[in-house]
Amino acid sequence: MQADPIVPEHVSLVMDRFGTDVLDVLTATQVLDVLEVAAPGPQMVVLAHELQSRVLNDLDLSRLLSVWQRLESWHVSRMDIAIVAIAGDEPASSVDYGREEAALAMRLSPRGGMGRVAEARLRTGRVPEVGYALASGTLTRGQAFDLTVAVGRFDDALAQAVCDRVLPVALKKSRSEFKTAIEKAVIAVDAAGAATRHIKAKRERSVTLVRHPDNMAEIVAYTTAVEAESVYDALHATAVRDRLPGQRIDNARADVLVAWANRAHAEPDLPRAHGRRPELRLTMTMESFLGFTDDPAVLDGYGPIHPMLARELAGGATLRRLITDARTGGLLDFGRQTYTAPQSLADHITTRDGTCRLVGCAQPAKRCDLDHRKEWQDGGTTDPDNMSALCERHHVMRHKGNWRLDQDDGQLMWITPAGREYLVHQEPVDPSFV
Ligand SMILES: [Zn+2]
Repeated sequence: MQADPIVPEHVSLVMDRFGTDVLDVLTATQVLDVLEVAAPGPQMVVLAHELQSRVLNDLDLSRLLSVWQRLESWHVSRMDIAIVAIAGDEPASSVDYGREEAALAMRLSPRGGMGRVAEARLRTGRVPEVGYALASGTLTRGQAFDLTVAVGRFDDALAQAVCDRVLPVALKKSRSEFKTAIEKAVIAVDAAGAATRHIKAKRERSVTLVRHPDNMAEIVAYTTAVEAESVYDALHATAVRDRLPGQRIDNARADVLVAWANRAHAEPDLPRAHGRRPELRLTMTMESFLGFTDDPAVLDGYGPIHPMLARELAGGATLRRLITDARTGGLLDFGRQTYTAPQSLADHITTRDGTCRLVGCAQPAKRCDLDHRKEWQDGGTTDPDNMSALCERHHVMRHKGNWRLDQDDGQLMWITPAGREYLVHQEPVDPSFV
């Protein structure tokens, strides 16, 4: 028997009429007709989940994937609300430690959390139309991210004008096509403001390091288009002049940049951190160094690298003997007889901790402060057990932000202002430990 055609108004109508047995009454194709035009929500999740377990033809499978895609957008918009509930509509103060609370709950690094929280705040606050478009599944999460970043820089009227232009076409565009549409709209609605925005954006110039697999990493420089072109031209011209016979020009440009860094490292007046000149710090087992095993080495700031690379690097370097705990791989001694006590202590702590001790923070310990957990003036001692590497932001957060760092049974634990506890994972110093 053929079921009555459904007027696709809202998925809840179907659910109300048939309950969860809807799939016994309607064909999958009929249910998809409804889901495709309905507003995403919990009932749509239930139906999509149920449909996914049925035998569907290829066309319906593809339509169902599109339904899941809209549900993903809706899900992201629910997370926006949950994030703002924790982190607040806006930073509670200039330091904004609420975003760390949200980042930890989402297992994001503090850096990743910063971007995610900013996005949620914009969509639930200043640019709600982007939030609505996400909740209705009109924007994919990627499109929503690009639009949020683009209009987040603008005042409300301008943001609205850009949204008005691009939202109606979002459904028809891929992410990169949509990005182009946003860029065009931005120029169309406010050509005059472009210069002002450029001056402001210029203050955000930065160089960042991005890790990649296979022991590779990327240096990303964010600067004005003119300066970036100029840097690239200089790298290119030097590479053309200096490249080895048969060498790829891409490789030669990278080598020119590295050669510049090596010259800079040799300058005698560079500032020191924890008593040391800028240096590469590499940790590997003696067995691996001698080639008896292939345990990975650890390059400070990057992570594990192949022992072959490490042996090359270690040739001609200053070697310091570290003594690690055979049971845990933790650092027992830095070879302190070689150095004066404070230097040895700083070396010990930065090597042991590796990175800032806030969960997920990747700031290398060598660029961190050394924090006394129990203050020196309260009788805290200057020894490894009482000291941790904390980056500047998280050092201040501990002292002023109502965040506690406790030690229990040798384990460090953060207690957030909301009362959640996060154990600090201590990466073994001995690279042969996983
Ligand atoms: Zn940190």
